[in-house]
Amino acid sequence: MVKICCIGAGYVGGSTMAVIALKCPAIEVVVVDISKPRIEAWNSDQLPIYEPGLDDVVKQCRRRNLFFSTDVEKHVKEADIIFVSVNTPTKSRGLVAGKAADLTYWESAARMIADVSKSDKIVVEKSTVPGINYQILSNPELLAEGTAIEDLFKPDRGWKAVQALKDMYAHWVPEDRILTTNLWSAELSKLAANAFLAQRISSVNAISALCEATGANVCEVAYAIGKDLRIGPKFLNASVGFGGSCFQKDILNLVYISECNGLPEVANYWKQVIKINDYQKSWFVNRAVSSMFNTVAGKKIAVLGFAFKKDIGDTRETPAIDVCKGLLGDKAQISIYDPQVTEDQIQRDQQPTSPSAVKQVSVVWDAYEATKGAHGLCILTEWDEFKTLDYQKIFDNMQKPTFVLDGRNIVDGEKLREIDFIVYSIGKPLDA
Ligand code: NAD
Repeated sequence: MVKICCIGAGYVGGSTMAVIALKCPAIEVVVVDISKPRIEAWNSDQLPIYEPGLDDVVKQCRRRNLFFSTDVEKHVKEADIIFVSVNTPTKSRGLVAGKAADLTYWESAARMIADVSKSDKIVVEKSTVPGINYQILSNPELLAEGTAIEDLFKPDRGWKAVQALKDMYAHWVPEDRILTTNLWSAELSKLAANAFLAQRISSVNAISALCEATGANVCEVAYAIGKDLRIGPKFLNASVGFGGSCFQKDILNLVYISECNGLPEVANYWKQVIKINDYQKSWFVNRAVSSMFNTVAGKKIAVLGFAFKKDIGDTRETPAIDVCKGLLGDKAQISIYDPQVTEDQIQRDQQPTSPSAVKQVSVVWDAYEATKGAHGLCILTEWDEFKTLDYQKIFDNMQKPTFVLDGRNIVDGEKLREIDFIVYSIGKPLDA
């Protein structure tokens, strides 16, 4: 029986290995991690990450041909194929802090593989790294959180460097979707794919500010340009900005590689995508505050949604962190509700700087509770459940005048105005 060991039981390692175990029952898959709580969670009914469809896949395969363990070295030693799926965040210290990828975890995993391996191995690089130089396959992960299980079942692209990997993917990926490129193309395609997606979000967000200034409606503009087949309709929703662990990090990697290769203009081009994203978050805070008579000091603002997008519980680099910080900076009281994000996670992300900042934030488990007595309601994640709330009930329990600040354009502004809400939706005129 072929044995796979995946180092790193995170969003990518856990989801990818669950799908491989499901699709390849003849392969034994062990996911290992240095984090004991993470492995315990994978072995329990409360998986450490939320992904639609993931629970079912794990339940079907766990202890059949899918195992989770902290015994990293033992399983690396026994494996035929080793996937490396450890975190590669942006460096927070040193000369290239805030720019290059931090390969500490990746290097430590690579050294450990070299130390413990006594038989031939195929090492498959799954983490997003800016380049490697020995006999290793590069198979950067292209899944998107929130649709990870769906993406893994129906990938748009796959990468192959040796037949073994191709054979494994061939269990469910059509042959014409398995692409083979050189190593730099594989790694750069991964960075470029995320940069293009982030760029689309920044492009539509840049248009949204112009819409507000001119009286255009960003939803109408996005619909119109999306009809052009060369542009297409996806990823054209104006919002409070992109988040997640990948977009900004991968663009910073592109910027860093461009600078290292003497291409400052290319670096500047990509930097602008991040600048617009930061601008969008402060734009939203400023508009929210100005629409509430130029101050939110002492006012209660209900924040609906904290994850960086719907259908996940991931808050890494979520725009909600900066928006909440902006509101707290103007001395608002905020009450946060997200269907999948825990209080601990939110308090940790807020990194309160003083005891009074802690008192300004409460986390509740119900949208109605969050909005009770609030002056304003701020939507920061596009969860479907926020579209169907009983807004009359919410209005009745809020202060008057009552504001809705829709950072995702998901509520029906017309209906809310009939109730008597004052509505600000990103990129829309005040009466749309
Ligand atoms: P993650 O932080 O959720 O998981 C990484 C795991 O690796 C952690 O649980 C950590 O404890 C473990 N780890 C670190 N060093 C280890 C070691 N030496 N031995 C064993 N375990 C170790 O990260 P993630 O979101 O799964 O991302 C992993 C990689 O995939 C990153 O390079 C990321 O850029 C890339 N990626 C992520 C996504 C995504 O949507 N999250 C999508 C595509 C690619």
